[in-house]
Amino acid sequence: MQRCDYCGRILYKNVSEKYFLCSSKCRTKYKNKKYLSKLEQSVTSVVKNGILVKEIVNKLDYDKFDTVSAIRRLIYKKGSLFIKANSEINLNVEIFIVRK
Ligand SMILES: [Zn+2]
Repeated sequence: MQRCDYCGRILYKNVSEKYFLCSSKCRTKYKNKKYLSKLEQSVTSVVKNGILVKEIVNKLDYDKFDTVSAIRRLIYKKGSLFIKANSEINLNVEIFIVRK
């Protein structure tokens, strides 16, 4: 199933011709590649096995939507994190690190 390149949610309607983006908000945010990679690095630096999504959000001083989006990208696009739950991620889902 295709997901938004920014927020990582399942894509129902694509607003971009070049990328997969679910909304104009995501399209705007996706342009700031520097911010995206900075946030992904920040998530990676605080993540540990079994940490809850909301704990990551609380540890980082970033916008909640942006932080959860970065977590979804690391799970669904980069494959460096994963969840054991058979559901979409929410604030109470545990995150685990993929062993390389
Ligand atoms: Zn999106």
